[in-house]
Amino acid sequence: MSVNGKAVGAHIISVKLSGREIPKGHVVMHKCDNKSCVNPKHLLVVLQKFNMADLKKKRIKNHYGITREQMQARYQAVQKRKAKREERANE
Ligand SMILES: [Zn+2]
Repeated sequence: MSVNGKAVGAHIISVKLSGREIPKGHVVMHKCDNKSCVNPKHLLVVLQKFNMADLKKKRIKNHYGITREQMQARYQAVQKRKAKREERANE
């Protein structure tokens, strides 16, 4: 979507159509985590700083409640065990 020749997200237009302004340094954030959602009730105008902090939190913990690094470590541990088992089977 574009307004005045500038590419603008549909969610930004949705916020503007609902009568809200997006002050400088603010961004539009989704409450429902659905990037294509344009329901103005789900869209929050927040300071960009806040948005980044929120995203970081989300990135660190997934729905298992563990960090990505922990997930990777678990996966690698399983792969290692598997490799060892195969090694033994080949002896
Ligand atoms: Zn939504």
